[in-house]
Amino acid sequence: MNDDLKIKFWGVRGSYPTPGANTLKVGGNTACVEIQAGSKTIILDAGTGMISLGRELARRAALEKRGIEALLLFSHLHHDHLQGFPFFVPAYLPNARLHIFGPGNSNEALKNVLEHNQSAEIFPVSLRDMASTKQIQTVQETQTIVWDEAGPRAVGANVRLSAEAVAIRIHKSYAHPGCVFVYRLTWRGKTVVYATDTEGYVGTDRKLAAFARDADVLIHDAQYSAEHYYGARAGFPATQGFGHSTPEMAGEVAASAEVGQLILFHHDPNYSDAMVAEQEDYAKKIFADSCAAREGLEIELNTIPDPLTVKIGRMAVQYAKHD
Ligand SMILES: [Zn+2]
Ligand SMILES: [Zn+2]
Repeated sequence: MNDDLKIKFWGVRGSYPTPGANTLKVGGNTACVEIQAGSKTIILDAGTGMISLGRELARRAALEKRGIEALLLFSHLHHDHLQGFPFFVPAYLPNARLHIFGPGNSNEALKNVLEHNQSAEIFPVSLRDMASTKQIQTVQETQTIVWDEAGPRAVGANVRLSAEAVAIRIHKSYAHPGCVFVYRLTWRGKTVVYATDTEGYVGTDRKLAAFARDADVLIHDAQYSAEHYYGARAGFPATQGFGHSTPEMAGEVAASAEVGQLILFHHDPNYSDAMVAEQEDYAKKIFADSCAAREGLEIELNTIPDPLTVKIGRMAVQYAKHD
């Protein structure tokens, strides 16, 4: 059993993919983050970064002669968070099981968007024709997504968890057009918060800061420089109200929430490697432990088993059996 909670960035851009000589260091693919909690694979968003991740998951599974099981969480369904899915190799494999959760106004909303994204007018292969087994479910912010011995599922907020369970809480943010889900994933006492596509508020987004409190890693939108955001950067329109943050806004949330480290995410597609490096410098002035995400960046959080947590976990399982 691997004791690390591993985070790997496969796509770190916002809006649209941006290949080219100026983005080689940071990478040009849109949003996709892989989290490995022991043997469990959790994927945050399905931007074009997901295409390389899919090949890697298929390679690992073939090497170990096993099927694929993965939990895919959508922050929201804007196309930069969706466009990699039709090219995700595991979705075509009969031995793959995909559990797909995300926001929506009705139970069928998420499924409808995914089906529409692969309707005959738009894409040659329909969702139904992809050979994997897919569980697609709209979830609400009052629910917690749990992955334990019984498999991934959405449950009520006050469920008792076993020590090995991955638990993902949801914060519905209104700081992005059409709303966005922020996810807080915890496994063995280590916590990652994924807050992409969110715009800061004057005086800090306090609800988000409370939701992210004490997280080991906060992944936060930082698409625009402050100059760009306010319309003072030549050649770039003002972007206030677009639903994205500056590095200063991200730094304020990180400082207020007292997180372990801040990873700037969802970089503007027009920004060169040098401009993304500047974003990192701006964030560091507010929150020292800041770093700009780049493709291939890996973070490993060691989950040294805490005897107290393990004990509480076992008791919780026993109680659950008597309920
Ligand atoms: Zn986006
Ligand atoms: Zn968006």
